[in-house]
Amino acid sequence: MDRIRAESSQQLVDMSAGKPSSAAVLGVRVDCVIMGQALNHCAQLLDTAGHHQVVTLNPEFVMHAQQDTQFRELVREASLVVPDGSGIVWALRRQGNADVERVTGIDLMLQLCALAARRQVAIFLLGAAPGVAAQTAAVLQQQYPKLIVAGTAVGAPDAVQAPALCAQIRDSGAGLLFVAFGCPAQDFWIQQHQRESGACLAMGVGGSFDYISGKVARAPRRMQQMNLEWFYRLLRQPWRWRRQRVLISYLWRVLREH
Ligand code: UDP
Repeated sequence: MDRIRAESSQQLVDMSAGKPSSAAVLGVRVDCVIMGQALNHCAQLLDTAGHHQVVTLNPEFVMHAQQDTQFRELVREASLVVPDGSGIVWALRRQGNADVERVTGIDLMLQLCALAARRQVAIFLLGAAPGVAAQTAAVLQQQYPKLIVAGTAVGAPDAVQAPALCAQIRDSGAGLLFVAFGCPAQDFWIQQHQRESGACLAMGVGGSFDYISGKVARAPRRMQQMNLEWFYRLLRQPWRWRRQRVLISYLWRVLREH
């Protein structure tokens, strides 16, 4: 078996496996991966001609996809769908998929930045509030001194701004694009505009810029390990209760259907 050490990860993964296997949670596709596999697959995608989209699936995305068939289709067509959110890992394990772990958007983004620095692939940061992407770039460059940040931009995920944003990304020569417009806007933006932006690999990262820049504190490691990150976010950002109440129906439906 062709086993190699995953780039920037201590996990050993099977590189002969090629494309990760997929499962479905409440009818929504998700790939059964651990971080090392996700990262290796991204590394392969960066070497493959074309435009590849990564989706970080959490239970809110799954519940959104129940009503939005276009979003469900987008997830089905993506190059990689990682199990972000402990609720997704829990559902996959209930189905007998043992070899999965939580691959959060922020952790995958940081690993991809390390990979991009080693390979000298330029990155572009799009989205979040004014100043946040630039601050994120500064933090990342400090963490990965060889990282090339080709550019940052603030903007909205509307069709009016898209041509100018795409031109900016294309002109920057970035191969790896991170988009922080929140779900599902960021994912639809990538689906519709990635080709025009020229980026080989693009991933929607939600609030990751807010965390990396230090604008918002991430849950302490212990809470993350106890699968309580959602609770910490709720304490810090109480307005999230509206979004998070779908988690109750998610739990109920997974218990019933899987
Ligand atoms: N955002 C943006 N433009 C918009 C809507 C949202 O730049 O029109 C940004 C927002 O500032 C935040 C990110 O998108 O940085 C979404 O973060 P959120 O915490 O909602 O995402 P989650 O991590 O929950 O998916």
